[in-house]
Amino acid sequence: MNIRDRLKDKQRIIIKIGSSSLTHPGTGALNLTKLEILVREICDIRNMGKEVILVSSGAIAVGRSAIGISGRPEELEVKQACAAIGQAKLMMIYQKLFSEYGHMAAQILITKNTITNPVSRRNAYNTFQELLKLGAVPIVNENDTVATYEIQFGDNDTLSALVASLIEADLLILLSDIDGLFTDDPHQNPDAKFVEVVEELDENLLHMGKDTSGSDVGTGGMSAKLSAAKIATTSGTDMVIANGEDFHVIHKIMQGQNYGTIFVGKKDHSFSLVDYLRSIHHKEEVR
Ligand code: GLU
Repeated sequence: MNIRDRLKDKQRIIIKIGSSSLTHPGTGALNLTKLEILVREICDIRNMGKEVILVSSGAIAVGRSAIGISGRPEELEVKQACAAIGQAKLMMIYQKLFSEYGHMAAQILITKNTITNPVSRRNAYNTFQELLKLGAVPIVNENDTVATYEIQFGDNDTLSALVASLIEADLLILLSDIDGLFTDDPHQNPDAKFVEVVEELDENLLHMGKDTSGSDVGTGGMSAKLSAAKIATTSGTDMVIANGEDFHVIHKIMQGQNYGTIFVGKKDHSFSLVDYLRSIHHKEEVR
């Protein structure tokens, strides 16, 4: 079967949205029109009988606009405080929109350590399983009070792949402000070519990622996305990176249409997620 056609049969789907895809570029405030489309797309996938998990950033952006801070704050603790204010507000909006379509939203806040600690990992796994059994849509974010990795580097790219690995998702869709993977930075190099399918994520490709994101609300650059692809694909999850400019792209991807870059999942039993996380853990700022 064609790799794209395979996407039609996916049952357990994770959709990850970065802050820049949820907010207006000028003000950083939530783009409610887009949010409404996102929730409708997700509810429709649920109506098809599939399971959906949403990994949503946006807590800092919502918090800062509630407080009235213009621009992304510099200090880590201000970002954490914004996230604490914004997360509750963000969930309030999601709850409202999901209930309008007759669906239940649930909040899950985790960190990388949730996955590396066997007890927390089991607890998180059990909660996800139960929520999915109940038909709820888990909405996941980093617990920014106790961890800052995603604030500093990932914009939840890594987190979404960890969730994919934890609950053995069939498909992870990362929606961002880029169309997918290019052979070079398309903003700098007009000869950069678009990559439609990645069958094997080798070292060469992993180094193709760039660390910048070009947005003032999010942090996830291509390198965070490739790191997420490494975790997802070695856990056996297919992953698509596509542009989140128009969230209708979600059902188009699910129909097997040619959007974004697809990374083919191939379970690798020799890959140690815990070792991999330790190798990227040293980056997090500890004060
Ligand atoms: N947890 C953060 C948030 O929801 C994600 C990282 C970011 O947006 O920079 O805002």
